[in-house]
Amino acid sequence: MIIASNVTKTFGKLKALDNVSVNCNRGQSIALIGPNGSGKTTLIKSILGMVVPDSGFITFDQHNILHDWRYRERIGYMPQIGRYPDNMNIAQVFTMMRDIRRNSITTDEELIEEFGLNNMMQKKMRTLSGGTRQKVSAALAFLFNPDVLILDEPTAGLDPVASEILKQKIIKEKQKGKLVLITSHILSELDDVVSEIIYLQEGKLQFHKSLQQLQEDTGEVKLAKAFAQIMKYP
Ligand code: ADP
Ligand code: MG
Repeated sequence: MIIASNVTKTFGKLKALDNVSVNCNRGQSIALIGPNGSGKTTLIKSILGMVVPDSGFITFDQHNILHDWRYRERIGYMPQIGRYPDNMNIAQVFTMMRDIRRNSITTDEELIEEFGLNNMMQKKMRTLSGGTRQKVSAALAFLFNPDVLILDEPTAGLDPVASEILKQKIIKEKQKGKLVLITSHILSELDDVVSEIIYLQEGKLQFHKSLQQLQEDTGEVKLAKAFAQIMKYP
């Protein structure tokens, strides 16, 4: 569904992505893992067309994304840091997004309800706590029922209850055959969610394998433990 071929991106002297090739398919739920600065967000932004690679290319359903931007309406994106007009209240942000996406027929308001956002629709964006802002970002990512969900550190700042709600939602959407790409620092949160692991280090793809394969290779069931093994014996 999404294929990155030999994608390289440099910022000045720094190679944020170094010849990265990955293949992401429907029904997969992929964890994008790597230390800070390893290129996870840059890879996500390249897929979204927000960063243009220096070389290599990305296709979405066989179409080069450089030539056809319409694929973007099939992606729900939750950015690492969501920025919204400060003076709008939550309701206005949702209305604005619905106006922009007028041609989306079905909307999915499950997260709005489950996060209790309906009770705080009149609050201004600038007054929201980090966690509430994350809830708005998450609800927006799922709102237009997209085929692909790209979630960059989605649970950062969420309380445990909200984290669990989001996790269950991710699992539910994945079971409908959607592709989910998710980065998180907290590996334990990914255990029940992901089917595949992409591991980046210093902009290079270290591996892309199934969770099952990783478990077999390391003899560990939990993702955090499996990674502890990999770090010990790289
Ligand atoms: P991650 O999400 O894995 O923490 P990023 O993809 O955000 O990493 O960043 C990878 C590297 O590229 C980092 O060293 C970061 O400082 C650098 N980088 C990312 N975006 C830019 C930019 N717009 N300008 C300059 N350097 C950038
Ligand atoms: Mg990042």
